[in-house]
Amino acid sequence: MDCIFCKIIEGAIPSKIVFENDRIVAFHDIQPAAPVHILIIPKKHIPTMNDVAGEDDSVIAELFAAARQIAKEQGIAESGYRLVNNVNKDGGQVVYHLHIHLLGGAKLSPLLG
Ligand code: 5GP
Ligand code: ZN
Repeated sequence: MDCIFCKIIEGAIPSKIVFENDRIVAFHDIQPAAPVHILIIPKKHIPTMNDVAGEDDSVIAELFAAARQIAKEQGIAESGYRLVNNVNKDGGQVVYHLHIHLLGGAKLSPLLG
């Protein structure tokens, strides 16, 4: 399967991993849009949020639990951060392996003007 994030999980593409367990992995975005920009992904290849099946609910909860922990470790839990999940074309999704962006370390511009 030609998926960049699956290759990162396999270690075939190098990345700066900040968190890993049996089900999820988190690593620095290659093109950071904020001082802290980390991607949190399931190890299971799920293309988009639309493809999450009932049995995946626990892994989705784990993505958010990891986000909370990583935000603390990165020292941005109190100053604040944003979690983003882009879905399909209009949502701006580029990599079709489900991921949550953790963004912080600076005042982010409002998403909705
Ligand atoms: P999307 O637009 O799909 O929500 O976000 C995909 C993200 O993946 C982008 O922020 C992009 O910079 C990041 N990205 C794409 N290819 C790589 C890669 O090979 N390594 C890492 N670390 N991040 C990547
Ligand atoms: Zn994948």
